[in-house]
Order: sequence, then structure tokens, then C-alpha cells
Amino acid sequence: MIKVHIPKTMPAAQLVEGTYQSSLPLVPSHEPVGTVVALGKDAAKQWKIGDRVGALLFRHMCGTCSHCEATRDIRFCGNGDFAGLKGDGGMAEYMIGGADNMLLLPDEISFVQGAPLVCAGATVWGGIHASKIKPGEPIGIIGIGGLGSLGVQFAKALGHPVVAIDNRPEGRQLATTNHWALKLLRPNGAFVPLGLHVEGFRLDAFDLIFQQLTVVGSLVSTKEQAKEMLQCVAQYGIKSWITEIPLQRAGELPKLYMSPHLKGRLDVNISA
Ligand SMILES: [Zn+2]
Ligand SMILES: [Zn+2]
Repeated sequence: MIKVHIPKTMPAAQLVEGTYQSSLPLVPSHEPVGTVVALGKDAAKQWKIGDRVGALLFRHMCGTCSHCEATRDIRFCGNGDFAGLKGDGGMAEYMIGGADNMLLLPDEISFVQGAPLVCAGATVWGGIHASKIKPGEPIGIIGIGGLGSLGVQFAKALGHPVVAIDNRPEGRQLATTNHWALKLLRPNGAFVPLGLHVEGFRLDAFDLIFQQLTVVGSLVSTKEQAKEMLQCVAQYGIKSWITEIPLQRAGELPKLYMSPHLKGRLDVNISA
């Protein structure tokens, strides 16, 4: 059990609109960080009271469904839940974390900075690795919000030349009409869309085939990748831009979350 310090905000608007087909009521938030305050028997083998942790959203891998058999990867379990999307998340004083899928926060990383890393940071880090980019090859990042600004810093820390592309609100539109993104790639390049666009993607067949491009799906990251990401953040002093709001204003979250003027990530400070 985790005493939650910062429950990162969540796509509250999508929850209410049913994008994730969550059954309501539900405790939202899937980027919680906090302190371990109680342990089950198995959890005690890996964790101790007082550990500072972040909880990745994937929980309760069944180990027996066809996805588990094929991948042995908790992210794809057909019977697991996603904290804050399919099961109760971290917008609470206490939450249950999956002992197998929590991350120890390095001392250098505060709770405030740690929260966006657990999903946003892991998603960008996983996406960079999913592209199978080689050392020294360039990365272009379209959309410099919470994820994109971390992506620029990750790419730089990993030694890639990086081009950041944004021009709101136009940049957002460009990023959603993905055929434009393909035109920026060199032959054999890879495109990793990380935005979850309900309307789907539109890709140009000629760009894809004549440039022999790859489009890669990427789901957050593995736990091992997330651990590497935290080490990288600690080593290079990577920071998120945080907009913090007090709990009393939590009702405004859906509106704030979808605002094109939102800078970086939204935090609800439940101790303020
Ligand atoms: Zn399963
Ligand atoms: Zn997320």
C-alpha cells in the first residue's frame, strides 16, 4: 500500500466521455508517486516500509491468458487492469500498487518530478527505444508538451541530435495528421505515434512504401526500461515543467487538461 504524495492527473475528460470504456465510478490518476506504508507477504520480499516509489499503471497480470502466454509481459495481459483507467488509481490518500510493477525513485528525483515520469516519461522513453534508433541518429519530436519536452531531454541525454517541432495550435493539428510526419523522415526512418487519437491515423502510402518507412506502436515501457529512464533522469538532472493546482480546484481538471495553453504536466497537490 502506498501513501500517495502526488497523484498525477489523468485524462479525466476522456474518462468521463468513455474513451477508455472505464466503468464508473472509478478513482482516477495513473501516475501516482508516494511512500510504501504497508506490505503484503509477497510484496515484503521486494519492498520495505518507507520506500519512495512510483507505480506503473499495469497491474494484476494473470499469467495464463493467451497474451500472457505469448508475451510474459504485464502490459498486454487480457485480465490485468490499468490503474486509473480500468481499475482504481492514485487520486486518493492511499492506493494499492502492484508489487511487481512499481519503481524505486532515486533520491535525486522529488515526488513532484517523479510523478510525470511514471507514465509520460516511461511512454517517451519506451517510444524512443521502440523506434530501434541507432546511437547518434537524429530524432524529431512533434508536439512539445509534457511528453515532448521530456523526449527532447531524453534524446539529448542518449546522444541523439534532436529537432523539436511545435507551433500551437497548428503544431497539434500537424501532429495529428500523421501523413505530414512521414514527410520529415529519411528513407528507412521510423515513426512512433504516442498520441492516442480516437479518430485514428492517416498515413500516405507513397511515403510509407517509397521511403520504406516503419510505423511503430509503443505502449508505455517495460519496467526495466522505466528503471533505466529514472537513472538517466537522475544522472542528467532532467526536469518536467509542472503546473500545480490545489485539490480544491480538482473539478477544473478536465478543462485544464484539454487546454491548448497547458504548459507541461498538471499536478494536483493533495497535501496543499
Ligand atoms: Zn493475462
Ligand atoms: Zn499516462
